[in-house]
Amino acid sequence: MPANNTAEELPASPDMKVTWHALSGKEVLEKLGSAVDKGLSKDEAAKRLEKFGLNQLKEGKKTTFLQMVIEQLSSFVVIMLIVAAIISIFLGETVDAIAIITIVVLNTVMGVVQDSRAQKELEALKKMAAPEAMVLRGAHRVSVPARELVPGDIVFLETGNFVPADMRLLEAVNLRIDEAALTGESVPVEKNEGSVFDVDASLGDRKNTAFSGTVVTYGRGKGVVISTGMYTQLGLIATMLQSVEEEETPLQRRLDQLGKTLGYACLVISALVFVAGIIEKGDPLDMFMIAVSLAIAAVPEGLPAVVTISLALGMQEMIKRHALIRKLSSVETLGSATVICSDKTGTLTQNAMTVTRVWVDNETLEITGGGYSPEGEFRKDGKTINIHDFPAISTALWVGTLNNDSQLEETVEDGKSSYRIIGDPTEGSILVAAAKAGARAPELNKAYPRSGEIPFDSDRKRMVTLHEIKDPQSQDISPFEGKNDKEAYVIAVKGAPDVVLGLCNRIQKQDNTCAPLDEKGKQAILAANDNMTKDALRVLGMAYRVVSVRPDQVDSDHMEQDLVFAGLVGMIDPAREEVKPALLRALGAGIRTVMITGDYPNTAKAIAESIGLLRPGHKVCTGAELDKMDDATLSSEVEEIDVFARVSPEHKMRIVSALKANDEVVAMTGDGVNDAPAIKAADIGVAMGITGTDVAKETADMVLTDDNYASIVSAVEQGRVIYANIRKFVYYLISCNMAEIMIIFIPTMFGRFLFPKAADMGMLSPLIPIQLLWLNLVTDGAPALALGTEKGDPDIMSHKPRPPKEPIINRFMLTGVIVQTIAITTTTLIAYAIGSNHADPRYAETLAFVTLVFSELLRAYTARSERYPLAKIGVFTNKWMNWAVLASCALTLIVIYVPFMADIFNVLPMGWEEWRLVIPLFLVPSIAAEVVKYIVSGKKKTA
Ligand code: ADP
Ligand code: MG
Repeated sequence: MPANNTAEELPASPDMKVTWHALSGKEVLEKLGSAVDKGLSKDEAAKRLEKFGLNQLKEGKKTTFLQMVIEQLSSFVVIMLIVAAIISIFLGETVDAIAIITIVVLNTVMGVVQDSRAQKELEALKKMAAPEAMVLRGAHRVSVPARELVPGDIVFLETGNFVPADMRLLEAVNLRIDEAALTGESVPVEKNEGSVFDVDASLGDRKNTAFSGTVVTYGRGKGVVISTGMYTQLGLIATMLQSVEEEETPLQRRLDQLGKTLGYACLVISALVFVAGIIEKGDPLDMFMIAVSLAIAAVPEGLPAVVTISLALGMQEMIKRHALIRKLSSVETLGSATVICSDKTGTLTQNAMTVTRVWVDNETLEITGGGYSPEGEFRKDGKTINIHDFPAISTALWVGTLNNDSQLEETVEDGKSSYRIIGDPTEGSILVAAAKAGARAPELNKAYPRSGEIPFDSDRKRMVTLHEIKDPQSQDISPFEGKNDKEAYVIAVKGAPDVVLGLCNRIQKQDNTCAPLDEKGKQAILAANDNMTKDALRVLGMAYRVVSVRPDQVDSDHMEQDLVFAGLVGMIDPAREEVKPALLRALGAGIRTVMITGDYPNTAKAIAESIGLLRPGHKVCTGAELDKMDDATLSSEVEEIDVFARVSPEHKMRIVSALKANDEVVAMTGDGVNDAPAIKAADIGVAMGITGTDVAKETADMVLTDDNYASIVSAVEQGRVIYANIRKFVYYLISCNMAEIMIIFIPTMFGRFLFPKAADMGMLSPLIPIQLLWLNLVTDGAPALALGTEKGDPDIMSHKPRPPKEPIINRFMLTGVIVQTIAITTTTLIAYAIGSNHADPRYAETLAFVTLVFSELLRAYTARSERYPLAKIGVFTNKWMNWAVLASCALTLIVIYVPFMADIFNVLPMGWEEWRLVIPLFLVPSIAAEVVKYIVSGKKKTA
C-alpha cells in the first residue's frame, strides 16, 4: 500500500503541473492520496479546501465604493448644485452653502446606499444559483456545492452535468463531453479511462481528462479531481462561464428612458424658470439656485436604484417560495405569462413512485405496500400468493433491477429502518418491488455484473444494459442461468412498453421458458398496457436476451434485437397535493396549464383529469399526432390541447413556437440536456432544481428548487406583485415631481397676476432651494422604497395577464398623475396665496412648504394600491411605510420648530392657527386620489 498523501504533503496547486493524463489511474490516486471507493474523508477535504481555496474563477472587477460615490456626484444637476454652493460661498452666503452641501452629501449617501444594496442583493442571488457536484466523501455519495471541491475528490459525472473541476477519469461509460467552451470543438469528444502516453498531448487529445466548464452530453463517468478554481484549464484562460445575467431588463430600460425624458423636460423648465426670473428682475444668483434645486428635486434620479432594489427584494421573496430567478428580466415576464407548459412526472406529480402491478404472460399480480420500504405482498385476484409460484414475475423484476442506475438505501436509526432512493424514482420503485419479491440489487449485481450499457434517453425512451453471467447459482431459478458456455452474457432492456415490444420476437412464459411472439401475443401485451395506463399507472416494459459472446460493440444495432419480452411493470405516481389549488389559481389569473409528458396518453389523461388540468372540450395530443401537423395547423389547434403525451424533448420546441405564434407568453419546464433548446426558446424557461441537469439550469430563466409546479404559480404571482409595486412608486414619484415643477414654474411665470402681494414683497417662488432639496430627500427616498415592499392587491391573481407591451404609464396612471399634479399644486399655491397676506415673506413660504411636504407624505399612503381604497388594504399594514413617513414627519417638524434649523430653512414655527389652515389643504390630494380609485374601479365593474 503506498503512503497516502495528505493535505500537508501535497504541493500547493501552482506547482501541481503534473502531466496527470500520462499517468495511470492508480498512480494519480496515489499521488493525490485518494481512493476510488472512498474518496477523501470530510476532514481531509476541509483541510484541502483551506489549502487550495474555493473551486471558483476569480470574479470580474466589482464597482468600488469610491466609484459609486463618484457616479452619484457626477450627475449634471449635482455638479450645478456644487457650483451654486461655491458661488454662494464667494458671495458670503455661507449658511446657504453649508446647507446645500449637507443636502448634496445626504443625497449622495442615499444614492450610494441604494446602489450598493442593489449590488449586494444581486450577488447573493448569484451565489444561490451555483451548481452542485456529486462526490464521494468518506465512502458516502453526497452532493456538495461545486465551489467546495478539492484535488483528490472522487466526482461522479452524468449526462447534463457541467464538469465541475479538471478531473482524471477513472471510469467512463459511453462518456461524451462537449468541450466547445474550452477548445471550440463543437462535436462532443468520447472519453475513456485509459492512459494517454503522449506527455505533450493537447487538451483535445487528453481523452482521459474531463475539463472544468465542459458539458457531459452522454453517458456517465467517475473521476478524481486534479485541479480546481483558477488552476483548471478554464481558469488558465480565465473566462467567466457561470453568472447570473445582469443586463438591464426591458422595464429598467423603459424606466431609464422615461427618467431621461423627464430629466430633460425638467432641465428645460428649470432653464425657463431661470430666464423668466431674470426678466421678472429676480436676483440672478437666487434664480440660478432655484432653477438648479428644482432640477434636482424634479429629476427622478433615484428611480433606477429603487427599481433594482424592488426587483431584487422580489427575487428574495421568490426564493422563499422555491423559485430562483436567474435573469432579472424574467420577473417582469412572469407577470404577463399566459401559458405554463409543465412536465408531468415530478412537477405535477410527486415522483414518489410505487410499483403496484406486474403483468407477465396474461397473468396480473398486485403488489401492496407504499413508500420505499420493501415490505409488501403479491396478490392475485385479492388473494396473497407465494411469489415462488410465479418465477416469471421475478424474472421481469430482475431485468428491471439489473437495468437500473438507482440505489435503495436503508438507514437504521433507533432500531427502525427507513429507506430512500438515490437516483431516478421510476427506477427506484422497481428495486423496491424486486426486494418485496426477495431479490436484492447488490447480490443480483454481483451474480450478473454490468459490463456495458446504452444509457436512458428521453428520445429513445429506453435503456439497455449488458451483464456478464458470473455466478448464477447464487440466485434462485431464472431464465439466464448460464447453463452452458453458450450463455455468457445477458442483455437487459427496459423502457416504454411499445418501444420495447418493437425490439422483441419472443415472449417469456410463466415457467420462464420462451415462446415465439405472434401478432396475437403482441395485441395481448398492448391491451394489458392499455388497461394499466387507464388506471393512471406509469408502465415500463422489460425485455432481455441471453447471448454467448460479448457483443463486440455496445450499441443499439448489436444489442436491441430478437429480445424476449419479459413483462410490464406498472407504478403509480400520485399528483402533488398543492397542484390542484395552484392550477385553479392560475386559471383564475387567466393562465392555462399544459401538461407535457413522455408517458402514455391514458396515464397522462387520468392524472390531468384528476387535478382539473384537462378541461371539458379540450384535447390530449400525442407526439405522433403532433408530427403529422404542420406548424400552422399546430398553432390553430394548440389552444385546445391541454395534454401532450408520448412527446420527445424536440416536440417541446414546436409547442413553444406554436404558442408563441399565437402571442402567448409561455413558461416551459424541462430538466434534460435535450430540453435546453425549448427552455431557451420559451419566454420563461424553467428548470428543475433537484432533477434538472446543469445544462437545463444554465439555460433557464428560473430554477424551481422543489421541482414543483405550484412554485411556478407563486412565482407568477410574485412577478405581478413586483411589477405592481414598481408602478406604484413610478406613479408616486412622477405625480410628486410634476407638482413640484408646477409649484415653482407657475409663480415665476405668472406671479405678478396670480400672487400680486407676494410679488410686491419681491418673492418669485414659494419654495427656496434648500426646501426643494429637502423635499427631494424625504419623499424620493424612504417612502418610495417602502412602496416597493407592498404585498400586492388581494385580487392580484384574479385579473388577466398584463399585455407584455403595455407601457408602464398607461391611461389610468396618466389620469391619476394629472389629477394629483393639479391637486397638490393647487393646494400648495392656495397656502402660498393665503400666507402672502402676511407681512413676513417667510410666513407664505412656511405654509407652502408644510402643505407640500405633508401632501406628499400622505399621498405615499394612498399610492399603496392603485385600485383599492386605503381603508380596504389597511392604513398601517405596511410597516416600512409607517416608519418612513413617521421619520420624515419628525424631521420636518424639527426643521420647523428647532430655531437654528428654522433659520437655515427660512421657515417660521407654526401655531395652531396655521395648522388649522394647512391640514384641510394637505388632505385634499389624498382624498382626490381615493376618489379617482373609486371612479375607476366603478367603471371596471360595469365594463
Ligand atoms: P416522462 O418522465 O415525463 O414520462 P421522459 O422523457 O423522462 O418523460 O421519459 C420518456 C419515457 O421513457 C417514459 O414515459 C418511460 O416510458 C420511459 N422511461 C422513463 N424513465 C426510464 C428509465 N429510467 N429507464 C427506461 N425507460 C424509462
Ligand atoms: Mg422522466
